[in-house]
Amino acid sequence: MNLVVVSNRVARGKANEPMTGGLAAALLPVVEKSGAVWVGSSGRVRDGAQTEPIAEIEQIGEGTLALLDLPAAHYAGYYEGFANSALWPALHSRSDLISVSHDDYRSYREVNAFVARALLRFQKPDTLFWIQDYHFLSLGAELRTLGVKSPIGFFLHTPWPARCVIDSVPNHRDLVTAMLAYDLIGFQTEDDRENFTACIRTDLGLQVRDGVVRSLHGRTRLAVFPIGIDADKFAQQAAKAVAHPDVSRLRRSLNGEKLAIGVDRLDYSKGLVNRVNAFDRMWTMHPSLLRAASLLQIATPSRESIEAYGNLQSEVARLVSEVNGRHGEVDWTPIRYLNKGYGQGVLAGLYRSAQVGVVTPLHDGMNLVAKEYVAAQSPVDPGVLVLSKFAGAANELDAALLVNPHDIDGMARTIATALSMPLNERRMRYEIMMTKLRRHSIQQWFADFVETLRDGDAAEAEIDPLPAAPAGFLAGRMLSPGARYH
Ligand code: UDP
Repeated sequence: MNLVVVSNRVARGKANEPMTGGLAAALLPVVEKSGAVWVGSSGRVRDGAQTEPIAEIEQIGEGTLALLDLPAAHYAGYYEGFANSALWPALHSRSDLISVSHDDYRSYREVNAFVARALLRFQKPDTLFWIQDYHFLSLGAELRTLGVKSPIGFFLHTPWPARCVIDSVPNHRDLVTAMLAYDLIGFQTEDDRENFTACIRTDLGLQVRDGVVRSLHGRTRLAVFPIGIDADKFAQQAAKAVAHPDVSRLRRSLNGEKLAIGVDRLDYSKGLVNRVNAFDRMWTMHPSLLRAASLLQIATPSRESIEAYGNLQSEVARLVSEVNGRHGEVDWTPIRYLNKGYGQGVLAGLYRSAQVGVVTPLHDGMNLVAKEYVAAQSPVDPGVLVLSKFAGAANELDAALLVNPHDIDGMARTIATALSMPLNERRMRYEIMMTKLRRHSIQQWFADFVETLRDGDAAEAEIDPLPAAPAGFLAGRMLSPGARYH
């Protein structure tokens, strides 16, 4: 089997560099071991890139990394425009932040078509294509237009929102129609799959039976594959990382004080404003925690050229400064706020140094940081995870203290409870969560998806054929004016 994995961003395999998001962090170790070809953006753009799209090829472990320079004329409309100013906010249920033009949509489609053309050189008789994430919703349809017959799977790392939210994305019906060119679509949670099912039922008039939908493109299987981490490897990294200079300096600086840690990209989905407000409320409600517990918040800059991200950066910085001004002392800072990224080796040690991990997104596909925090804990004296019930990870990590990130008082109380949780209870919760993390590892996730994609034809043969829809009905419902699929 020849596996070709495609994502917008790729990781270059340098252990000490910060990862720019969960997808790249998760895929690197499995691509390195599986011998797959991983195709993604080089991060550079080029005029006339259409003529020779592959910019660089390098070896990563057993795998191969192929980096594309994307077309300069369409990059901004694709990446900052349609992907991150229409799809990302909608997928995270923030349709109020959608800001997009029809040219952006055209650029998004052009870049998808461009990547499809670049992928042809990797096609062999036994190739499986596995496309990742919201940047490439229409890539499978473009590959089919080019005559590709190989199995093509897609995994969505973000949530899929309620139908009324996805309706607010211009051209969403074309896109959802295009997605049905995939043989397999994987979601993080059952809720995401249900929302997608409701969307294709209402918008396209299609029914899903036994997890399979039939459209003009053929059959598409919809399935849930919650992404995991390599928990034991992370635990080993964490045990080693306590000797790292950054980690030992942090520990020395604490003087017996307890620490809570948050690690997030600076993104509005992560709930940073509510989190800082919750700490503010906690110190007001529990003055005994002043000087006794502080927050280390790592907020890695992200997508800074997009207005909503710039606004968030200013808002969080202002808020942190107000809270520090209100509760700080000459020799004590309540919130240490860092706008930089750390390699996972160091992060693991920082997680292990904190008695509480706060992961409180307003909406998140999975949130690997939540899993990493648990895996990094010392089994004899583990910390407590405070986790938003709106993170995908909450389905598995239900032994965390689950919070509603919109309820500031509730979060403040729960963080205080976490800070004083007795050892027995901490150990019990940690054991339950570690057992699940070991069972649902990143290796298992990768293998399950690839196996389901590869065995798709056999599984489909067992499914009763659906009654054919009236031709005019499907044609009318599925293809909106201007759609490029026939
Ligand atoms: N990460 C990192 N360095 C940092 C901050 C984050 O390597 O300074 C990694 C982190 O270890 C995790 C990923 O980035 O693996 C973030 O994934 P998550 O699913 O939590 O959020 P996303 O950024 O994908 O929305």
